[in-house]
Amino acid sequence: MSEELICITCPMGCRLKVDRRDDGTLSVTGNRCARGIKYAEEELLDPKRMVSATAKVSKPGAGLDAVSRVPVRTSVPCRKEAIGDLLADIYALTVDLPVARGQTLIQNWKGSGVDVLATRTLP
Ligand code: SF4
Repeated sequence: MSEELICITCPMGCRLKVDRRDDGTLSVTGNRCARGIKYAEEELLDPKRMVSATAKVSKPGAGLDAVSRVPVRTSVPCRKEAIGDLLADIYALTVDLPVARGQTLIQNWKGSGVDVLATRTLP
């Protein structure tokens, strides 16, 4: 049975038709370039997503600027099936202030090569 995907690698948005061969590999048509094949293989065989969330800070500042959480994101896409575990670890984290935008809060999460970075500076 064929599956259809829209390649989002570039604005051309090719409509890909994907068939699974008996050996588990994919046959991709509808792509205008080789990146469409790579996109279909990653999306169907090993999907990954960038993850954004917030992490608790240890001592929020006072006043109107006080925030109790720092926004974070992954440095690279995370395997889709691992996102729930990653979010649990991010939500269990307590970040000591100050924190700088781009600072690594979790390095190489579970050996996956995914770092979790702060996306905001908090004094
Ligand atoms: S297959 Fe190539 S041309 Fe088509 S959307 Fe993907 S990257 Fe762009």
